[in-house]
Amino acid sequence: MATLEIHDLHVSVEAENGPREILKGVDLTIKQGETHAVMGPNGSGKSTLAYSLAGHPKYTVTGGTVTLDGEDVLEMSVDERARAGVFLAMQYPVEVPGVSVSNFLRTSATAVRGEAPKLRTWVKEVKEAMAELQMDPAFAERNVNEGFSGGEKKRHEILQLELLKPKIAILDETDSGLDVDALRIVSEGVNRVRESGEVGTLLITHYTRILRYIKPDFVHVFANGRIAESGGAELADQLENEGYDKYVKGGA
Ligand code: ADP
Ligand code: MG
Ligand code: MG
Repeated sequence: MATLEIHDLHVSVEAENGPREILKGVDLTIKQGETHAVMGPNGSGKSTLAYSLAGHPKYTVTGGTVTLDGEDVLEMSVDERARAGVFLAMQYPVEVPGVSVSNFLRTSATAVRGEAPKLRTWVKEVKEAMAELQMDPAFAERNVNEGFSGGEKKRHEILQLELLKPKIAILDETDSGLDVDALRIVSEGVNRVRESGEVGTLLITHYTRILRYIKPDFVHVFANGRIAESGGAELADQLENEGYDKYVKGGA
């Protein structure tokens, strides 16, 4: 079973007046098959955690360790992390002009699997996954994220997730901007991947509503650049009722 271990992670970004510490000692262990919800107020550093794990160059790790089955993730390039099985669905996905969804998926799958998927089975795999996400087959010929609606971007990310089958999936606010139907379809996709038992999921969210569809095994409250409290699914209910106030006050 793959295990991602984050220990005392400190991360800074370059701000106008010099480096600014955003993550202030994050500890978190995610095993394949587990779903962890990380919830917290805006600006608490949730996306910074996601980008840091994926290796975004803007974020500088100043302390701590991240390992996947004992291998040093922080030493790996972005591509190496993807090949090792770490997947990030971004809060604000970028456009890839001139690259179709279909080519993008095949290139990604080739990179992650280490060989090009056999065309016949691949086409079938993509078709089935798209049908499950209620995506129009014509979508495969569109350019990545170009003019995609919020819902299309998120479905495209879940499509990647289903096809790439990572060991650790980081989903950053996959629920933001989705209407109820899209939220249900996207959540069902996450649950299908989850039911395989082969993916550990880090579900980053500001709102509790996605947790009605995806039941987390663990809930962590993120505030001021670190995990302030951890518990089971009941902690999400408590947050729904009480908000984040008690974690933010007196912090930073
Ligand atoms: P969250 O995802 O929880 O809303 P973020 O990780 O996006 O929080 O941001 C945490 C803090 O770090 C915010 O104060 C934000 O302004 C700052 N921050 C994040 N990324 C950058 C960056 N690239 N440059 C400067 N400040 C940043
Ligand atoms: Mg935010
Ligand atoms: Mg964010």
